Amino acid sequence: MSEEERPLNLPIVEPGESGYGSAGEGTRAVHTPRPAPPAQVPVGLPTYRTSTFEFETAQQYADVLGDREGGYTYSRIDNPTADAFALGVAALEAHGCDRTVAAQPFASGMAAISTVLLTLCAAGKHVVAPAAAYGGTYGVLEHILARFGVDRTYVDGTDVEAVRAAITDRTAVVWAETIANPTTAVADLPALAAVCTEAGVPLVVDSTFASPAVCRPLAWGADLVVHSATKYLGGHSDVTGGVVAGDVDLVARVRRARVDLGGSLAPDEAFLLHRGLATLPVRMARHCETALAVAEALAGHPGVERIDYPGLPGHPQHELAGKLFDAGRYGAVVTITPRSAGRGGGRDAGLRLCDGLRVARVATSLGGVHTLVSHVASTTHRQFDDAALAAAGIPPAAVRFSIGLEDAEDLIADIAGALDRLT
Ligand SMILES: *Cc1c(COP(=O)(O)O)cnc(C)c1O
Repeated sequence: MSEEERPLNLPIVEPGESGYGSAGEGTRAVHTPRPAPPAQVPVGLPTYRTSTFEFETAQQYADVLGDREGGYTYSRIDNPTADAFALGVAALEAHGCDRTVAAQPFASGMAAISTVLLTLCAAGKHVVAPAAAYGGTYGVLEHILARFGVDRTYVDGTDVEAVRAAITDRTAVVWAETIANPTTAVADLPALAAVCTEAGVPLVVDSTFASPAVCRPLAWGADLVVHSATKYLGGHSDVTGGVVAGDVDLVARVRRARVDLGGSLAPDEAFLLHRGLATLPVRMARHCETALAVAEALAGHPGVERIDYPGLPGHPQHELAGKLFDAGRYGAVVTITPRSAGRGGGRDAGLRLCDGLRVARVATSLGGVHTLVSHVASTTHRQFDDAALAAAGIPPAAVRFSIGLEDAEDLIADIAGALDRLT
């Protein structure tokens, strides 16, 4: 084949031109030739599956590592695929916000949460958090920060006056959750932000249950928003990740702590999470529409004791949710408490409701395409006895549904059938 006819991208090696020429087999195998970075911008996000980056000069390496020049040195520090995911979240969370927003990617929601808490807290400081905080967050506060001299006060997250009263001159963080697990209580973010601004304390919001396609806490005055990206951002139950977005100076401090603590997001996971962002609004619209249909259809079922869902008019923060959330979207976690048939103080009814489902799966986690259920008292809140459950407003029979992307009619029939079989 003559040179003129040769297709441009035919990878070839001329005789005697095998990269390192006369070097040994090992050297030639390690230092194989590579195509130049393409001039055309890839439409899909490239996965920079590398732990390290090379430099033309030792001085450049020193300058990038020393933050005097932008760039990449080592993927625990920064990785372009992970940064693409963080940039995407920053853009979504910044909508409607009058401040510049930065973000940082993490290996899990708990890596994000623990890094934020370790960034903001120090010995002698104090944290105000909701009594119903996510179990892992509670664990970091009680099992880790407590050992380092950080005090904690837990309050009803929907009671803004209780939060105000709990803040002291040592308070370093006020923690909130947009939608609480499993009660679906909605936090009054603008009122909490006003209290925090007055006290000069950062407000950090775990908005995992909402996602930026339902609510954007930064626009309501929060300083930082954190997500378990494992849930709606990834959206397919096939990746673990986390993210922190918010005030640029705070996020720069969070980045430095992430680099030291090491909970950085891997490039392959970042690829999947970034891909999830593109369909987040479409998935979330459908998740929310189906969740509302399920909640409305089953609210009157004779086997139902109560349904907790912010989209129902009887929910204590229904109006607040209407104000804080995007129109018609109330999230997709629906907590259904079956009427207790007597046995096991209600716990048994919850377990049996789960076991009677055929479309919904019994599994941990939420936010994916499959409808997943967990019996709250025996899973996410297994450390709570009946008195502690009552104090947290969780009936022993409550079952948390993460409504997926199946058809609403199929889910309604599935749940109604399982409820019918309870009696
Ligand atoms: C799942 C979850 C977390 C923890 O995230 P991981 O990705 O599992 O580490 C934190 N907060 C909330 C509200 C969650 O649902």
